[in-house]
Amino acid sequence: MPSHSMSQMKKQSAAKMNGWSCSPSFTHECDGNSYLNGICYQFNSRLNTVTNITTAFQECTKSKVNLVFLFDGSSSMPMSEFNMNKKFIWDIVTTLKNSSIEFAAAQFSTAVRTVFTFKDYVSGTAKEKLDAEVHMKSLTNTYKAIRFTLKNLFNNEESGADPEAIKALVIITDGSPSDIEGNEIQRCEELKIARFVIGVGSKVQLENLKKLASEPTENNTFMIQNYNGLNGLLDKLLNKIYGIEGNKNTLE
Ligand SMILES: [Mg+2]
Repeated sequence: MPSHSMSQMKKQSAAKMNGWSCSPSFTHECDGNSYLNGICYQFNSRLNTVTNITTAFQECTKSKVNLVFLFDGSSSMPMSEFNMNKKFIWDIVTTLKNSSIEFAAAQFSTAVRTVFTFKDYVSGTAKEKLDAEVHMKSLTNTYKAIRFTLKNLFNNEESGADPEAIKALVIITDGSPSDIEGNEIQRCEELKIARFVIGVGSKVQLENLKKLASEPTENNTFMIQNYNGLNGLLDKLLNKIYGIEGNKNTLE
């Protein structure tokens, strides 16, 4: 694996190489701390990793990320799309399996339930729980779902959440919320939760979804016409997630 300096990496980034995804801080463990390296992955058109370039050694540091997927199980979504949703989530998890990110997921409709916790992810039971998750098929109570996520996942050490972790929420939905906003977004801001929203399909009202995303909302809200578009979104979203992961670290 060739070693490259950060300035070389920047030149490569500046050249906007197609098919490259860079993380400023992929980590591996050293003496209980995470060993921080910059790394770039090259993807082919099917998003399989072809090769990677690692930057010079930087330092030992901790940069755990807790990322929650909150995905829409409302009745407006055909079963095939619901399953595409689950596949998309697992594609991201698989791509980032060697990073410092730990994942959890919840499905929402009229009700909300945890699909897998950070603990499940770490213990290796997340995939079977995601596969087994049954489509709820009712309303779209998005704000209720955010409240649930704060209480039961991000702010719940039983779930395996780390209070010190950088926090990110990825909301995948095909419609505007059925319920009314309370103080959920403000509470997310207080907890410094980075929020990305993926709106799928033709019924999506962009303005309603932007309200859920972090500022600048236009950069953190993604619209796709159908679930086949989710694959094209993966790379963009990964770069956003890498940006989150890097926020807590000095890169140079
Ligand atoms: Mg719906």
